[in-house]
Amino acid sequence: MAIQRPKGTQDLLPGVVEKWQDLEQHIRKICREYGYEEIRTPIFEATELFQRGVGETTDIVNKEMYSFLDKGDRSITLRPEGTASVCRAYVENKLYGGPQPVKLYYMGPMFRYERPQAGRFRQFHQFGVEVLGADKPIVDAEVITLVWDLYTRLGLKGLEVHVNSVGCPTCRAEHRTKLQKFLAPRREQLCKDCQDRFERNPMRILDCKNATCQEITQGAPTTLDTLCPECSEHFRELRELLTAAGVRYKVDPRLVRGLDYYRKTAFEVLVEDIGAQSAICGGGRYDGLVQEVGGPQTPGIGFAMGVERVLAALQASGQGSDRRPKEFVMFIALGEAAQKEAFSIVSALRSKGIPASIDLLGRSLKSQLKSADKAQARFAAILGEDELSRQVVILRDLALGEQIEVPLDEVKEDLIHKWEEEV
Ligand code: ATP
Ligand code: MG
Repeated sequence: MAIQRPKGTQDLLPGVVEKWQDLEQHIRKICREYGYEEIRTPIFEATELFQRGVGETTDIVNKEMYSFLDKGDRSITLRPEGTASVCRAYVENKLYGGPQPVKLYYMGPMFRYERPQAGRFRQFHQFGVEVLGADKPIVDAEVITLVWDLYTRLGLKGLEVHVNSVGCPTCRAEHRTKLQKFLAPRREQLCKDCQDRFERNPMRILDCKNATCQEITQGAPTTLDTLCPECSEHFRELRELLTAAGVRYKVDPRLVRGLDYYRKTAFEVLVEDIGAQSAICGGGRYDGLVQEVGGPQTPGIGFAMGVERVLAALQASGQGSDRRPKEFVMFIALGEAAQKEAFSIVSALRSKGIPASIDLLGRSLKSQLKSADKAQARFAAILGEDELSRQVVILRDLALGEQIEVPLDEVKEDLIHKWEEEV
């Protein structure tokens, strides 16, 4: 039996990978414009980082982590998300000692042991940003505007930005009591996970996807009902700034992000038309996290976007057209002497940045021409024994179906000229 890739992973082949590169370029460009710099952290970290930084009561830590003991008996985890690592790096490299805020972005694979389905993988990719060292609502507004701007530029249709405030530990304590009181009579009917959450983290019951739990929580007190004056003011300013920036958003009092360290702002971006997994971005403020991983009290906010889901949404809204790069000229050389001549010209063209290629399989004229057609090359340059003896090259324009003879010693300059006209 042939070996297959692990469940929930993907091979990104030519033809698809160009769409990833396009998206990555858009991301890098917008991050530069907004003044965010890239950070690259390890793919694996000490398991404890995620236990502390993501939180023991979350699905990620409870059920989804790829953890193992390495040869030195250390518990290691393939990163399930980026925020904890960025905060660890901020502390470990003493970035808090430099100018604040620190505005960072990352892109790369994440790993979660989940049941694979459309839009849900075990190795998937996120782009995320984090702002550390600034606590004003304008920071939250900048981060949300960045992702809105990115999605709008990409041409995504049917976007919905949901925002909420989950308050701070002070207002959440009051909410917790009220919510438990509301849910107590029907506690037994909650799903097993939510019965667990009832004591550990009842706020997250509001976020449960189980239909019965959703029905039970209808009309439950939301965090917005118990915001303290400071959190309430923060949320008001954020909403005004989003409006000022032209972001269309909706207040969603039931939006509770899964991670324990969130404070105040929580947000999500949803998109129509990609089926069940419609969340293409999730984020929020995490003013307690840097301290949790051993640093000084530092406010932070960020989001993570699912690359696979954004690409699926682009495909669904008709933006996913094929854009494989095309060869400019393919040399068809027949015989050893002609091949040497052609190889020298191809090398010279490539060194000028012109996409040129030459047959590597020793195929016949007919089959080489067929493959030039298939590759949608602009020109085929034919150099057989007869052409070589006459010191010419047949240059066939594959788009127009016309061909001309060019002296061998002029073909390089001629192709360079044609390339310059084309680009
Ligand atoms: P979900 O509710 O879909 O499980 P989440 O709350 O676990 O999402 P986050 O941890 O906030 O997701 O991650 C941010 C984004 O990463 C999500 O909005 C989604 O686009 C993407 N994402 C999360 N898990 C996966 C996965 N297993 N496969 C593909 N994309 C994912
Ligand atoms: Mg999840």
